[in-house]
Amino acid sequence: MPDIIQLLPDFVANQIAAGEVIQRPASVVKELLENAIDAGANSIQLILKDSGRTLIQIIDDGSGMSMPDARMCFERHATSKISSADDLWKIKTKGFRGEALASIASVAQVELKTRQASSDLGTCVKIEGSTVTECEPCQASVGTSFAVRNLFYNVPARRQFLKTDSVENKHVMDEFQRVALAHPNVAMSMHHNNNEVYHLPKGSFRQRAVGIFGPKYDERLVPVEEETDLVKVTGFIGKPEFARKTRGEQFFFVNDRFIKHHYLHHAVTGALEGLLQDSQYPFYLIYLEVDPSMVDVNIHPTKTEVKFREERAIYSILKSAIRKSLGQFQVAPTLDFEQESSLNIAPFDGKSPVSIPQITVNPHYNPFDQVTRKEPSRSKTSGAIERSRGGGDWKEMYEIMRDEEVKPEELEFSTSDKQALPLQQGNNEQAVVFQVGKRFIASPIKSGMMLIDQQRAHERILYEDFLAKGTDHHGSSQQLLFPFTLSLTPADHALLVEESIALQQMGFDIEDFGGNDLVVRGLPADCRQQNPQKLVDSILEQLHNGEASAEHPERHLLALGLAKGSSIGKGQVLQTAEMRDLIDRLFACEVPYYGPAGKNAIVTLTPEELSGKFD
Ligand code: ADP
Ligand code: MG
Repeated sequence: MPDIIQLLPDFVANQIAAGEVIQRPASVVKELLENAIDAGANSIQLILKDSGRTLIQIIDDGSGMSMPDARMCFERHATSKISSADDLWKIKTKGFRGEALASIASVAQVELKTRQASSDLGTCVKIEGSTVTECEPCQASVGTSFAVRNLFYNVPARRQFLKTDSVENKHVMDEFQRVALAHPNVAMSMHHNNNEVYHLPKGSFRQRAVGIFGPKYDERLVPVEEETDLVKVTGFIGKPEFARKTRGEQFFFVNDRFIKHHYLHHAVTGALEGLLQDSQYPFYLIYLEVDPSMVDVNIHPTKTEVKFREERAIYSILKSAIRKSLGQFQVAPTLDFEQESSLNIAPFDGKSPVSIPQITVNPHYNPFDQVTRKEPSRSKTSGAIERSRGGGDWKEMYEIMRDEEVKPEELEFSTSDKQALPLQQGNNEQAVVFQVGKRFIASPIKSGMMLIDQQRAHERILYEDFLAKGTDHHGSSQQLLFPFTLSLTPADHALLVEESIALQQMGFDIEDFGGNDLVVRGLPADCRQQNPQKLVDSILEQLHNGEASAEHPERHLLALGLAKGSSIGKGQVLQTAEMRDLIDRLFACEVPYYGPAGKNAIVTLTPEELSGKFD
């Protein structure tokens, strides 16, 4: 047998390594930004074309490289940052593996220009697919510029795997934000397709946060500060009243490196216990400084999870630091008390309209009436609440209920056969419905009791409506009396501009007004929510934090944002007719049983489950 083991050629080894380190344009941005920081830059520019597919360029004014180093930096395991395994425990730099540039150069066309302050001439290196095509002296400013063109040009499978521009762009902005938030002492800017997305001068941590999240955040940030032998904690916690319903504005940095940490996240939410409403996520920007030997850096290059020694101690220090600052800044008048929901009532300002409280009475409701015995009256039509699409499913439930022969399990129906069900023309069969806790719609059915979450049900209805509009391209728009100007952060502005065509198809009349402003002239017709700011906030929340869906990657998040932003909420009193209409429309949906985010919209309780409560 001949010997069969051989060493992989360098470019193959590099491409394999690249698969780990470089997954998308954002990974290149992260690596190059970190290198610029490690090189001691005072100012960094990021320039992108087509969300980084065509060009990612990073220009810094850091140390620069000598000609041999400029050639050498693309070799695998070439690093100036460690020289022995012992150094691993003292790392202060972002990089140390010496893999990033080798990986990038194996899957893109790269041009490096660099000069050290001590020499008059710089060096220009061109390399593509790991092959150096040029390496010569050239004019260059002090510092380094990497231009990475046509990422994955030689790995078509990877290139195809990239998501839409808006998704890739969001990943890039996430990486940019993380580095920018960790280094306010470095001026940073970002341009995308010749538009300035961020312009961040050198400044304090607070100024940097405001530069990234927008001027509104200035008043929302409560400083946190604590220093112990083990850890120094600085940063900000957002005032609880501004907490959002979705994740995405939670930042931990350890020794200037962005990390995710579930356990420490819990310390923060624990400190805010009683101050947050259900399912809200607080804003936080927490910087931890620890001795590098206390953190395990020996982790996967692209993973943001880290392990601490003394994790428990850090947990309690962090928690008490946050509690202290909440008390100090009088965010929490009394800590450790369960907030009653009645405390959330806003003080009356004399300006807002007052409506007379209404009591909902269902005139048809008779607690002694057996639903199963109810006689149908066929005199009137209920066309107003009958929908042409599918429809009639829940009525089917009642229909079946009148037939004593049917066994409960036969009430199970699948949504796919709905289209086949006959519409109950001319049938005024009115089911008993009533509202519970201003949140659920209850209705007795043969197999027990049906409970519908009014908010999720409405979200489901609106979601499918908006999705259909987006795909059929015919959402009509209702003009606003006065155009509304939205002042956005650069990142949000870029996101919405990216999605503007889809938004128009869903019925938004929206126009880019230059700078970071957008003008809204019209909202989707039939939209209950008339406040453009609230609608747009809800869309942005989804674009930032929602899970993309495989089925409708482009439109899912927009439709979800619109649905959530304009649905009826918990606490809204519904009239009987409204409840019936809602149920009708819910059962006309493709997927009535779940809200658009996948949680139950309908729950049924059997008599057995109910009798369990009486034991
Ligand atoms: P690592 O950062 O892990 O050392 P990289 O592949 O990212 O590995 O970079 C290799 C080396 O190239 C670095 O150790 C550094 O010496 C040099 N280098 C990379 N980027 C820059 C830069 N912007 N300015 C100066 N030197 C750089
Ligand atoms: Mg590096």
